[in-house]
Amino acid sequence: MSFFHQAPKPYLIAGPCSAESLEQLWQTAEGMKGLPLQLFRAGVWKPRTRPGSFEGKGEEALAWLQQIKQHFGYKIAIEVAEAEHVALALKYGIDCLWIGARTAVNPFQVQHIADALKGIAIPIMVKNPVNPDVDLWQGAIERIMAAGITDVAAVHRGFSTYKSSNNFRNQPNWIIPIELRRRFAQLPIFCDPSHITGQAALVGQVAQKALDIGFDGLMIETHCQPKEAWTDAAQQITPQELHALMAQLEVRKTSVPTHNLVLEDLRQTADNIDAEIIDLLAKRMEISAQMGAIKRQNNLTAYQPERWREILDTRCQQGHLQALDKQYIAALWQIIHDESIKKQLEQAVPNK
Ligand code: PEP
Ligand code: MN
Repeated sequence: MSFFHQAPKPYLIAGPCSAESLEQLWQTAEGMKGLPLQLFRAGVWKPRTRPGSFEGKGEEALAWLQQIKQHFGYKIAIEVAEAEHVALALKYGIDCLWIGARTAVNPFQVQHIADALKGIAIPIMVKNPVNPDVDLWQGAIERIMAAGITDVAAVHRGFSTYKSSNNFRNQPNWIIPIELRRRFAQLPIFCDPSHITGQAALVGQVAQKALDIGFDGLMIETHCQPKEAWTDAAQQITPQELHALMAQLEVRKTSVPTHNLVLEDLRQTADNIDAEIIDLLAKRMEISAQMGAIKRQNNLTAYQPERWREILDTRCQQGHLQALDKQYIAALWQIIHDESIKKQLEQAVPNK
């Protein structure tokens, strides 16, 4: 059995965003006693968006984590962003490493880390790159595998956008990890709802959605005093909240009949894609409603023939590029556009 497959689902990784002090780690670890925790996570080198912020305690924190491991018996995971981090992590008996979203975007950097891993047997998790590029994510995973690492897992932490919608810090774009699963059927894929949502209150619902889709585990930022956290304060939950969340989460059965595993796998992927399509249609109609309100305010007609022709042409062309029949796309968009006009007409007339 490989490292990540030993545990029952969901594989749980939790711990603070950053290691701040021994006391903070200790209190957090203490609160997590009794949880089915597979890995205690903590960042010791923090990739910060802008200079001048807390950048992690470095080697000092590795010594604290070693104490946490000895006292509580938890296995420890940290982020590595440089080849030198690998050597230091090994010096302090760290059990598992992950490559962060800001490192996964850079093939040179991933290759440096992969080179440093050659000849070493340590499990590695690869977070998705910040931009929604499944090939880049795949490339980072392949570089690690090519270094001889056999225990590899992926972590879906969402994708950054200029302006976040639906209240999330990073967009989940679920279709991307689903595609990654299609490409690597055996690769464990975990979800990090903390960095997707950016808000403690939303972590539970995204964690459940991940399990519904079929993710193998969760990475959840947990801090003894989230409000006082030096990094990612808004999204961390307390150990007590993590206990409550784990008790509430429903793990779906994957009852796959043994006679046709391939068919079952394809069906599950089709279901996931359909769920994504429905989410997108709902989002599309929300946008239509907003456009309808603006058109009303500006005394414009809901139906604009030129715009409709442009929509139809571009969608048919885009579909054609992906080998989709133009008539099929045209028929589908006729239905979407009809519904959009209906939604727009439902918008109230503004007060005069
Ligand atoms: C983290 O896990 O604290 C972190 C920095 O994550 P990411 O690389 O996903 O931003
Ligand atoms: Mn974080």
